Order: sequence, then C-alpha cells, then structure tokens
Amino acid sequence: MEKQKILINGERLKQTLELFADFGRTENNGVTRLAFSDEDIRVRKYFSSLCRELGMTVTQDDMGNMYATLQGMENDKPPVVIGSHLDSVEKGGRFDGVLGVVTGLEVVRTMVENGITPKVPVVVANITNEEGARFEPSMMASGVISGRFDKSEMLKSTDKNGISFGEALKNSGFEGKEENRLKEAAAFLELHIEQGPVLESESLAIGVVECVVGMVCYEIEVTGDSNHAGTTPMPLRKDALFAANHLISELRQKMRQLNDRLVYTIGRMNVSPNIHTVIPNKVVFTLESRHQDTETIKQVEEIIQTLPESSGKEKCEVKATKLWDRDTVWFDENLVRSLEQSSKMIGYPYKRMVSGAGHDAQFISTYIPSAMVFVPSVNGKSHAEDELTSWEDCEKGVNVVLQTVLDLTIN
Ligand SMILES: [Zn+2]
Repeated sequence: MEKQKILINGERLKQTLELFADFGRTENNGVTRLAFSDEDIRVRKYFSSLCRELGMTVTQDDMGNMYATLQGMENDKPPVVIGSHLDSVEKGGRFDGVLGVVTGLEVVRTMVENGITPKVPVVVANITNEEGARFEPSMMASGVISGRFDKSEMLKSTDKNGISFGEALKNSGFEGKEENRLKEAAAFLELHIEQGPVLESESLAIGVVECVVGMVCYEIEVTGDSNHAGTTPMPLRKDALFAANHLISELRQKMRQLNDRLVYTIGRMNVSPNIHTVIPNKVVFTLESRHQDTETIKQVEEIIQTLPESSGKEKCEVKATKLWDRDTVWFDENLVRSLEQSSKMIGYPYKRMVSGAGHDAQFISTYIPSAMVFVPSVNGKSHAEDELTSWEDCEKGVNVVLQTVLDLTIN
C-alpha cells in the first residue's frame, strides 16, 4: 500500500537553524555556545518558547536536560524521543548538535500542521553539555542519566575560571528534578552532521549509523639515556626518540595490515628533556585506535603488547600501558532498518555507516532503543567556524527522521 508522503518545510528548517545560530554567532559565521553560558541560557529559553507555541510542555531534569513533550493519544505509553545538544565548542559551527534538536522541532511542527496526533507522546530533547568544552567530560549529562557517570563527581567539574558545573547549573535556572529524567522510551533518534568526509566523498545525503566504534588507547614509554649531543658518538647512544621512531614505523607497518577500516593515531608525544643539545632520554606517546569489531581491536592490542622490550639499535626500554578502552555501541537494529526504509521510501541514496565520534545516543542506547542519522559535512569539517552541511542535506536528514517518527507513532 502506498503511504502518503509527508515532508517537512525545508525553508522553515533553514530559517530556524539560522535563528538558533544567532545565539553565540561568531565573526566568521560560526557559533560559540558553551554549556550554561549566556548564549546557551538564551537559546534554551528560545527553544522553550518555540516548543510552547506548538502546545508542548517543557520540563528539565536535575542535569538541566530539557524535554519538550507533544502529547499523544496514549500518554502513559513510552514516548518517541528526538534529540541532541544545543551547546557547542569554542568557535564551533552552526550545525553540530543544534541540527538534531531543531530536527525534533521541525518534526513536531510538521505533525501539528498536518493535524497528526501521535499514538504516543513525541519528546524533543536538548541534552546538556554534550561537548564538554566548558566542563569535562563530554557527553556528561547523557552519561549521568544512563548511569555511566557519577552525578556528584560531574557537579564538581570546573571550567577554566573555577566555576563548577553544579554552580553553573543552579544559576542557569534550568535545574529540574531527578524524576524528570528521560526514562523509558520507545526510541531515541539523533540526527547529526557526519563530522567526517565519507558521505560527501560518496555523494550520499544520508548515513544510517549502525554503531559508534569501540576504541582503545595506550601510552607507550621509551626510555634511553641522556648525554651531550656533540660529544657522544652515534653507536654509543641510547636515543629514546630514534628508538620511538623505529617503533612507530613498526607499529604502522603492522597495523595497516589488519583492516582497511581501522584508524590509529599518535596524538600526543612528549620528548624529554626536549633540549636541542641533549640526546632525548625519554619519549612518551599515545596510540589510540578505533574499529567496530572487537576482534580487530584485540589484534591491535596484541601488536602493542608484543612490542619488543627494547627497541632498535638504540636498545631503549619500551613499556606499554593501557590507558582506557570503550566497546563498540551497536544501535537498535529495528530502528536502523526503519531509518533505511524511510530513506528508501522518500528516495534518498543512503548507506549504513559507523560513527568514529562519540554522541549522546551511544550512552542513551544502553537503556533506550536508539539510532542515528548522519548528513554530509562539507570537506568533512566540524568543530570549526566553517563547519557546513548544505540546507538540502539538512532537509533530507530531517525528512528521514520524520518518516521514522510517523512510522513509530501513527501506524
Ligand atoms: Zn555534536
């Protein structure tokens, strides 16, 4: 049976995104809207007012998460939730996070103007401090409501001026009750910009996200011996940096053979004593690697754990310590299929893909069936003022979410 296609208003979506970008817009058309800054508090009020205009009720929980609810026919049933975050990094873009919240708003607007009363409530959520740009860690509030982070610890997190998250929350006027936290729900849907180059490079508008990839991070310490850079002959040196260099080449050689979707990064390196006339006696670097299959991550760990205890001609000591790891989070297969169906039905080319970055949905998925949709990032850019997703692609992404929400709430 041919279903009637209901689509969102693309022009209104664009206008709404631009209006939201006015809260903290930077000189170069980016956005700075740190959690519970003036800009964040103002955009929260604005978001509230738009939701109330639609007849929604707005509540907050004890982490300042906001939930705007459109009543359904059976309001004791678990709702369908659409959400993301309104906070940004310093000099971030106009799309990261806010797109997922505005998606919810536009979905509800479309339902209301089409006279649709959903079977169950539809909730639009703004999750506090996703970026962790002002108060670490990132995904703080979704971490608390999903039981991953300890709330009292989080309240103590301070910004660079010594203001704690707890104080900022209290002063914001957005501190609500713990009983208002997002509990049971039929679905949590998050539309987000890809923040990578894959969709653009394949000319696809929609990515249906199956999982957030697991990762592991090691710290590798190479110890040599410091001495005078002029008087010590090369064969008599224990140069920790040359040894680290050998080691890194070897690691790269081995890891590139594992799987072509494996990514690995040496993002931090400290050289001691870091003086140009002294042979380095210590190099400490991190090796972080991400892949969706536990087996591949295990192979990475095997490579790291079987590194030789002393490296290269320099005979430096090598020690690897695991800092932390995170398992792959798989999204709800039924929702993933439903999002694929929606893309197919509207006629948008899509692919299933993985997320290399973390998102609130990954924590929320531990207790609510969740899934995500990605739309392309121009040049793969994000967390920058020139972060960009075309209006057409934003519109397509929201239409896919709308279709899935309609499937979940009216059929
Ligand atoms: Zn984000």
